[in-house]
Amino acid sequence: MKIFKFGGASINSADRFINTGSIIESFKGEKILIVISAMGKTTNALEEIAHLFFEKKKEEALNQFSELKNNHTGLIKKLSNQHLIQAENQLKDFFTEIEWLLNDSPIRKFDYYYDQIVCCGELLSSAILYHHLLERKINCTWLDVRDIIRTDNNFRDGSIDWAYTESRIIESVSPLFKNHDIVITQGFIGATDENESTTLGREGSDYTAAIFANLMNAESVTIWKDVDAVMSADPKKYPDASILHALSFTEVIEMAYYGAQVIHPKTIKPLQNKNIPLLVKSFLNKELEGTIISKNANKNLPPIIVHKSNQVLIKFKSKDFSFVEDKPIQQLHEIFNEIKIKPNLSQHTAISLLCCFDEHAEKINQLASLAENIFDVEVERNLTLLTIRHYNKEIVETLSCDKQMLLEQKTIDTIQMIMR
Ligand code: ASP
Ligand code: MG
Repeated sequence: MKIFKFGGASINSADRFINTGSIIESFKGEKILIVISAMGKTTNALEEIAHLFFEKKKEEALNQFSELKNNHTGLIKKLSNQHLIQAENQLKDFFTEIEWLLNDSPIRKFDYYYDQIVCCGELLSSAILYHHLLERKINCTWLDVRDIIRTDNNFRDGSIDWAYTESRIIESVSPLFKNHDIVITQGFIGATDENESTTLGREGSDYTAAIFANLMNAESVTIWKDVDAVMSADPKKYPDASILHALSFTEVIEMAYYGAQVIHPKTIKPLQNKNIPLLVKSFLNKELEGTIISKNANKNLPPIIVHKSNQVLIKFKSKDFSFVEDKPIQQLHEIFNEIKIKPNLSQHTAISLLCCFDEHAEKINQLASLAENIFDVEVERNLTLLTIRHYNKEIVETLSCDKQMLLEQKTIDTIQMIMR
C-alpha cells in the first residue's frame, strides 16, 4: 500500500478539492491511505480563535468560528450532492464540539485549549474530501486519526506512543483495506490516553504520513505539493534555483534542520528507518517527475540555499568577566526550555554566548528579560541567516558581497552566515 499526503494548498478551493479527487481517482485499484491537512489558512484562523477564547473574548471567538463554519459548509455544498446531508451532519458534529468548548471559560493551560480547537481543521477538511470521493463513487472510508495515533499530553508538540499506535493500526486500520481501496484520515493530530486531542507541531501532517508509512510498511509516501519538485533554493528569492530530482534522506534531514521548508523535519527518520522512499509531486501537474528522496546518495548536488529572514541575534555576556561555562549555560537552556524557544545557531566565546533565533517578539522579550538575571544581554533584530550546503567560493561571495557579516560557521559541506 501507498501513503499520500495532501497539504492545505491542495484543498483550498472547490476546484482544488476536485483536482485532488481526480488525482486519487487516477490511482484506481491501488490501496492508499490518505493523510490530509486543514484547508488553506484554516489552522492560522483556528489559532486565532484559540487565543480569543483564552483571552475570554468569547463573542469574537464565536464570530470568527462562524466565518470558518461558513467557508466549510459553502464548500461542501459545491462538492457533494447525493451525500450532502450526510456530509453536513458530519461537519455539524465537529462544529458543535468546538462551539460547546468556546462557550465555556478557560481553566486549564492555553496549549490544551489550542489542541482541542485547532484539531478541528483537519477533521473538517478530511470529512469534506471523504464525501466528495463518495460522490465520485470511489471505494473509500474515513477514519478519525485520534482513535489511532496516541501521544503523550505534551499539548502542541505531542510525542508518539509508537507501540500503542502500532497495535491500533493492526487492529483498526489494516483491516479497513480488505473492503476499501482508500482510507482517508487526518494529519497533524492525535489523542492522549484520556481521549484529549493533541497536535504534533505546525506543519506536522507530513510527519503523520511518515508514522503510518513506518508502522504499515508502506511501499512509498507521496507528498502532493504546490511546487514542481524540491528546489535548491526558494525560486522567488533566488531565480537561479534548480530542481533537485533525487535527494538522499541525509540531505533532506539536514536541509529541514537548517530550516528549508521542504518537509517537516520529523518526517525523514520514520521513513529512513524502514527505507521507504518519499516522493514530492506537484498536485497541479501530476505528470511532472518531482523529487524522489531515498537512501541513495546523490553526489553532484548544486549548492542548496536555505534563507531565513527575520532573525534575532542575542549576545549573552557574562556580567563579571567570568567564563561562560557549565552552570550559566545550563541555566540559559532551562530558560529556552521554559519558553519553548530553540536557537537556530549558537557560538561560544570566552565570556559570551551568541544565539540566533526566529523572531517571536513575545518570546524574545521574555527570554531577554529572564536572561538578564544571569548575563548582560544585547539583542539585534532584522537579520538574515543564510545556510548553504555544498557551498563554493563563488556562491558565498555572491550572496554575501553587499552584506555585513556578523557571524560565520562552517563545516566541510555547510556554511552558515548571519548577516545584517
Ligand atoms: N494544518 C497544520 C498546519 O497548518 C498541519 C499541516 O499543515 O501539516 O500547521
Ligand atoms: Mg500545511
